[in-house]
Amino acid sequence: MNSRTLCVFFLAATLGLTSANAAITFTVSFTAQAQSDLSPAEQALFTDAIQFWDDIIDGHRDGINRAWNLSVDTFSTAASGGSITLGSAGPGSVAFSQPVAGLALDVTWNSNRFIYSTSGSSNFNVHPDAGALQAATIRHEIGHALGIGTLWEDNGLYTDGVVNPNREGSGSPGQFNGPAALAAFQAEFDPGASFVPVELNGSGGTAHGHWNEADSALFGDAGSAIIAISGPGTGLSMDDELMTGSLSSPNWISNTTIASLYDLGFTLHTIPEPGTIAFLGLALLLPIRRRR
Ligand SMILES: [Zn+2]
Repeated sequence: MNSRTLCVFFLAATLGLTSANAAITFTVSFTAQAQSDLSPAEQALFTDAIQFWDDIIDGHRDGINRAWNLSVDTFSTAASGGSITLGSAGPGSVAFSQPVAGLALDVTWNSNRFIYSTSGSSNFNVHPDAGALQAATIRHEIGHALGIGTLWEDNGLYTDGVVNPNREGSGSPGQFNGPAALAAFQAEFDPGASFVPVELNGSGGTAHGHWNEADSALFGDAGSAIIAISGPGTGLSMDDELMTGSLSSPNWISNTTIASLYDLGFTLHTIPEPGTIAFLGLALLLPIRRRR
């Protein structure tokens, strides 16, 4: 990045959303730096990734139609210590929803309102060490921009153990308590689970914001891999799932991730039936490709 990013020039690429029930209008824009760094083909990957989430998300549970834009910026940082940050993202802005009846957990402290991402801010590493920009990386970062791992505490679904009266999470660190995600996780991975395991390991930005890649060791990935027993990823490992902290193959999105969006206040088109989600074939890449 350089000073040009202080004078952001947006190229709005409004997607053609013609679905009658699409209550969120998704768009993507690129900073001047990103336009310089990303080829047209790479920029098209972002349009595709936005469409990926648009195909999953219908609207907001308070019934209000909203627009949501992802702003894309780039940076260039070499690998260090055997890993490389491929990207980072989060909400660019947030807002309260309208009250929604019947919310579970601790969100009553927000008077039954969700805290929504109302725009996304993302940053992608274009250093040669990062390798070719991958669709799974973009999809992953958009997930964060929508609120996965970034608005969990704000919505009473998780706690990192740090007391903050404005982000009053529930449960214990490493335990995601969204009821929709938990039900999906029980069906998909572990019928006996009482929470969805969350990553507590990794460098800044990785812990408390991703699903854990293994089941028993909440403080690392030393436990047994969690293998999906039903759903689109039957037989696949959580280690390769889209919203874990490091990129690996075959990358796939679990029903658990999809259901967690409901806990964050989105309505969904459907929970996909087995076999309806296209898997991404990704080359295995070294070094460890750590995502924030
Ligand atoms: Zn991440």
